[in-house]
Amino acid sequence: KQTYRMGTIVLYPAPAMGHLISMVELGKLILKHHPSCSIIVLNLTNSHKSGSIVSYISHVTETIPAIKFHHLPKIPLDLESYSSSEAIIFDLIGRSINNVADVLRCIEPTALIIDLFCTSAMSAAANLNIPVYYFITSGACCLVKILYFPTLDRDYPGSFKDMNRLVYSPGMPPIPSADMPGPVLQRNSTDYSDFLQLANLLPKSSGIIVNTFDSLEPKPIRAITDGLCVKDQATPPLYCVGPLLADSYNETHECLNWLDLQPKQSVVYLSFGSECMFSIDQLHEIAKGLEMSGQRFLWVIRSPPTVKRGELFVPPDVVDLNQLLPDGFIERTNDRGFVVKKWAPQVAVLSHESVGGFVTHCGWNSVLEATRAGVPMLAWPLYAEQKLNKIVMVKEMKVALPIDAKDGKVAAEEVEKRVRQLMESEEGNIVREFVKARKDDAARAMSEGGSSRVALAKLVESWQTTRHL
Ligand code: UDP
Repeated sequence: KQTYRMGTIVLYPAPAMGHLISMVELGKLILKHHPSCSIIVLNLTNSHKSGSIVSYISHVTETIPAIKFHHLPKIPLDLESYSSSEAIIFDLIGRSINNVADVLRCIEPTALIIDLFCTSAMSAAANLNIPVYYFITSGACCLVKILYFPTLDRDYPGSFKDMNRLVYSPGMPPIPSADMPGPVLQRNSTDYSDFLQLANLLPKSSGIIVNTFDSLEPKPIRAITDGLCVKDQATPPLYCVGPLLADSYNETHECLNWLDLQPKQSVVYLSFGSECMFSIDQLHEIAKGLEMSGQRFLWVIRSPPTVKRGELFVPPDVVDLNQLLPDGFIERTNDRGFVVKKWAPQVAVLSHESVGGFVTHCGWNSVLEATRAGVPMLAWPLYAEQKLNKIVMVKEMKVALPIDAKDGKVAAEEVEKRVRQLMESEEGNIVREFVKARKDDAARAMSEGGSSRVALAKLVESWQTTRHL
C-alpha cells in the first residue's frame, strides 16, 4: 500500500454541531487511511451557542490528539441585531477573514477544506495560492441545486416562494418552488444573493467533497459528474466519501435503559435536530397524535423560543413538560412512551434494536444516521434544504414516508395516521426493506475497495500535485 508524504490539511467548519461533527469525521478518516497527513481544524470561538461545541471539541482533543484545533480570535457580536441563525454565522465568518488569512500564511497548508458557509475564506486562500476544497455537509441532491442555481436564477424570474410551479434540475425529481432551500425563497434578499454568489464560486474550487455515497444518490451524483449542473465552465472533481458520522461512544442515558426494556423494532423515535423549537400548539398536536396511534415512542422535546430577541435562536434551558404537553399526557402514556428533554444520544438511540422508526426533520446527518442504522423514517422537514431532502428521501432513496403539514402545522390526525403507517403497514415494511438495503450499501461504500474509500484515496492523491508535496 502506498503512503503519501503529506502536508497539513486545514479544515474550516461552520460553527454548528452538525457541520463541525461531520468535518471532524472527515479529518479522522483522512488520518486513519493516510496517517502522514496532519489535520488542523479552525474553530470560531464565539459561536452563539458554544456550550455543546466546546464540550465536543474537548472530547475530540482528548480522544484524537492528532487532530489539532486552532481557535480563531473572538469577534464581538450583538445578538439582538440578527434576523436569523444563519445571519449570525455568516457575519462571524465574514469578520474572521483576516484572522483566517493570518493562520493560512503561517501554516501554508497543502489544502484548505471549507464548509459552504465559509466561502469568504476562498479569496484569502487564493491569494496565498492554497487550493480550496468544499465540504458539503448535505447530500448530492442539495449540491445539484447549488451548482445549477445560476441557471435557475435565469430561468425562473420572481421569488420561488410565490411562484407556485415545479422547478426542474438535472438528476432530480421536480421540486415545488416553495420547497426550494430556505435561503433562496425570496429573490430580493441578501440570503438569495449570497447563495447565488456561492453557486458561482463553488466551481472555482479544486474539488467538492460530499457527505454521501454513490449508491445512495446515483442520479444527482451522475448529473454533477456529467457536467450537467455547471454551465460555461468545468465542474470540479467530486468526492463522495460518506457517510461520515459520529460513532456512539460509551453512551449512558436513561432513555437507553428504557429502550432495553422494549420489544424489538417497536419504538418510534421523534427528534428534530439541534435547532428545532416547536410552538406549544404543535407539541400538543404531536402528543395527541402519538396517543391516538397507540405506538411506543421516544420523543425529544424542547421549549418554544423565548421572545427575547438576543435569545431567539437558542433553545431555552428550562423544559417544563407540564406546561408544554396536554394535561395528563405523561401519565396516560407512561407504559409505552418516554420523553427526553432537549437532547438524546441519537446515534445510540437509532442503533438500538428496539427502535423501529424515526420521525425526522430531514437534517442530512439525521438522514444518514438512520440510513446507516437501517431505520425507516417519516419525513417532516422544517428549514434550510430539508423540504428538498424530503422529496428525495421519499421518491428516490425510498427510505421515508412523507408527513404533510397544512398551513405550516401538522395535525394530530396526520401524526397518528403516518406513525401507524410507518410502524404497522405494508408501506412501512417496504420502506423498512429499502432502508435496510441502504444500510448494507453504506457499509460497503466505507469498506476496503468501496466507493467512498476509493474517492478518499483520489482526494488525497489530488493533493500530491500541489506545490507543498
Ligand atoms: N442530535 C442528537 N440528539 C438530539 C438531536 C440531535 O444527538 O436530541 C444530533 C444528531 O444525531 C445529528 C445532529 O445532532 O448528528 C443534527 O444534525 P442534522 O444534520 O440532522 O440536523 P441540524 O441540527 O443540523 O438541523
